[in-house]
Amino acid sequence: MALKQLRHDTLALDGGAPVRSELLPYGRQSIDDADVNAVVQVLRSSHLTCGPAVGAFEERFAAVVGSQHAVAVSSGTAALHAAYHALGIGPGDEVLVPAITFAATANAVLYTGANPIFCDVDRDTLLIDPKSAESRITKKTKAIAPVDYAGQPCDYAEQRALADSHGLSLIEDACHSLGGSYQGKKVGSFADCTAFSFHPVKMITTGEGGMVTTNDSETARRLRQFRSHGISTSFQDREKSTTYEYEMTDLGFNYRLTDIQCALGMSQLCKLDEWTNRRRELALRYDEALKSSKMFSPLETKAQRVHGRHLYVIRIKLETCSVDRLTLFRALRAEGIAVNVHYAPVHLHPYYRNRLGTEAGLCPVAEYEARRIFSIPIFPAMTNEDLDDVLHALNKVELAFLR
Ligand SMILES: *Cc1c(COP(=O)(O)O)cnc(C)c1O
Repeated sequence: MALKQLRHDTLALDGGAPVRSELLPYGRQSIDDADVNAVVQVLRSSHLTCGPAVGAFEERFAAVVGSQHAVAVSSGTAALHAAYHALGIGPGDEVLVPAITFAATANAVLYTGANPIFCDVDRDTLLIDPKSAESRITKKTKAIAPVDYAGQPCDYAEQRALADSHGLSLIEDACHSLGGSYQGKKVGSFADCTAFSFHPVKMITTGEGGMVTTNDSETARRLRQFRSHGISTSFQDREKSTTYEYEMTDLGFNYRLTDIQCALGMSQLCKLDEWTNRRRELALRYDEALKSSKMFSPLETKAQRVHGRHLYVIRIKLETCSVDRLTLFRALRAEGIAVNVHYAPVHLHPYYRNRLGTEAGLCPVAEYEARRIFSIPIFPAMTNEDLDDVLHALNKVELAFLR
């Protein structure tokens, strides 16, 4: 259904009938009976944590994304923290991050004692701009952490070349892009460490949870140790060798993922391909319909990659719109469509301004683009009728607010 085919009716904001009575979320998990049964089975077993479901989930995950190792942790944020730590990032170091991302990409750099350095983004994709990143490299720079914003993998040939030419580690924040690929290879094996999130709005869920993948066995060992207090042997190792002895050789955290969560993750992973396909199908319908919009346009999708489609982000052509974004946001919410904004530039949050002195002007493209984006609903269980409701609501606001 193209936007222009819809007729003009009164906005719900002005007292008209809303497109939907029940709010359509921008993202939502899918849970089926197999997921429930997998969790119940662990609940009835002897190990709720540190048991066999953890290794089983890790092995399956590594096989699905094509990496040598996968280490399960308690969140995507923990995955980033563990990855930075395992790659040796610490006090005094600098890590390049894009200005448009979820705060955790930068926050986890601070956890290690290093500082995030905010880089500008590409105008068309909102992915980290390699030129901006290169211009911010100093003697202190140890790593670059690109984010696969909205699910679109960055150009990892380019990122790798940049990292190698300056001796930097490469950490991929793939919290949006599980299921995506670049040059025919799955997201999860391009960087020195790749971090995933299993929060309910992400591609698969374990409630809270995360994973780090790597192809380096020493990095994998450091990741495992870090997620369990910095202790060098696991509970399972000690059981096997009938010993109570262990040594703590590093300062770690309790970032473990439970067997209950891993069983859920394992069951969810079976549906990843089907869900990625459905997300892409929905995105294609949006792409098609938005061609006839005068007020909204999608972000650009680059060649040579499969976009994971975690988010469907649209831009307001500000010059065509007679109201501000907050009014559009409220109008769409009133129609029953839960739009959202991903994200305000991280360096403009009060915490970063106070701590690092980052101010407006640091990343002009990010700052301009962030003012005119919002995310419209996309998730695997969304029906074509749901999608038509979104288009109907967009059409209503476009007709009402077109200059
Ligand atoms: C969700 C997300 C994270 C953090 O993941 P959690 O599992 O919520 O801790 C990090 N980076 C990005 C880009 C994210 O979207």
